[in-house]
Amino acid sequence: MKYGMIPFFIPHIGCPHVCTFCNQTRITERISIDYLTSGYIAKTIEEYTAQKDKEKYWEVCFYGGSFSAISIPLQEQLLQPAYEALQRGVIDGIRCSTRPDAVGDDALERLKDYGVSTVELGVQSMNDVVLHKARRGHTSDDVRRAVKQLRKHSMTVGLQILPGLLGDSWYTILETAIEIAKLQPDFVRIYPVLVIEHTELAQQYRSGVYKPLSVQESIAYCAFLKTWFEDHHIKVIRTGLQSTDELDCGDSLLAGPYEPAMGELVMNEQWRQRIESCFQNHLDSWYDDKKILHKYGNHYIQPIVIEYPRHMTSKVRGLKNCNVKYFDDRYKDVTFIWRENNDNNWPICIIDSIQYML
Ligand code: SF4
Repeated sequence: MKYGMIPFFIPHIGCPHVCTFCNQTRITERISIDYLTSGYIAKTIEEYTAQKDKEKYWEVCFYGGSFSAISIPLQEQLLQPAYEALQRGVIDGIRCSTRPDAVGDDALERLKDYGVSTVELGVQSMNDVVLHKARRGHTSDDVRRAVKQLRKHSMTVGLQILPGLLGDSWYTILETAIEIAKLQPDFVRIYPVLVIEHTELAQQYRSGVYKPLSVQESIAYCAFLKTWFEDHHIKVIRTGLQSTDELDCGDSLLAGPYEPAMGELVMNEQWRQRIESCFQNHLDSWYDDKKILHKYGNHYIQPIVIEYPRHMTSKVRGLKNCNVKYFDDRYKDVTFIWRENNDNNWPICIIDSIQYML
């Protein structure tokens, strides 16, 4: 069944302070939440679910703040109409996002009483120095405790990470990947850091203290992280911020790797990395000379074959054949053959007559 999100943004509500990179009002284009009355929420739910293709898994989502840390009367005001819709079978679920240090037993009991079944935690990094520099106000141990708490209360757990924060490096990103995989969340979102106007990060960028990732670097980080999590049976449901008019045309985005097609480019990069590491592992295990990659053509005459089922053609070959071009340009002495083969439902690479699942 298709998924239908009914989003409500509560920018910064419940946040004890503002993290260096965050300006939810600029990202969500919402400033006040006065309009979020029970009546408005009920009507919005009705409008969404009355759509023609209403055979969807409808979920009400409260994003943009620290939901479990907002005042109890406001939480109840927001949740009540969603809970009633859930009771009537009009929607199928309710989720919210919050901070790792705001998921005590009482808070989670309340969420459960109102039918919330999924909680997304803003984790951002599992390196304490990076968290401190981002003024998160919590540590990686708080994240570990929070995930345990959510499991104890039978919640579906989503974790959000932000590669490219001040102080991040391949080392800290790897550390985050390893620590998150140990926690085994149900899903992860990966948002490379953008520099949004009127944030502390914007000042740090202007003063030269902070240098954002390039689009290419962020695609490489995201591809690595996505493959890592998928290899650990953790779903990655998003890479890169969703495009909005404000990000596309407004004056909020000061710098950083914003790319509306990020998800697709990350997938292309994952396949490029898989093919290249298959190629490299083959050479490492079959040839003594590790430098052979650079003189491969002198040693090897058979072409390398990459086969893929039709439905994966664009992922494997890449957007506008970017992966095909990459291998042709990088390994000029090697012949690559790219072909569709629907006998397998997963891509394979054939080198020296050995078949490797990619
Ligand atoms: S990142 Fe999360 S906790 Fe920090 S200010 Fe933004 S919404 Fe609040």
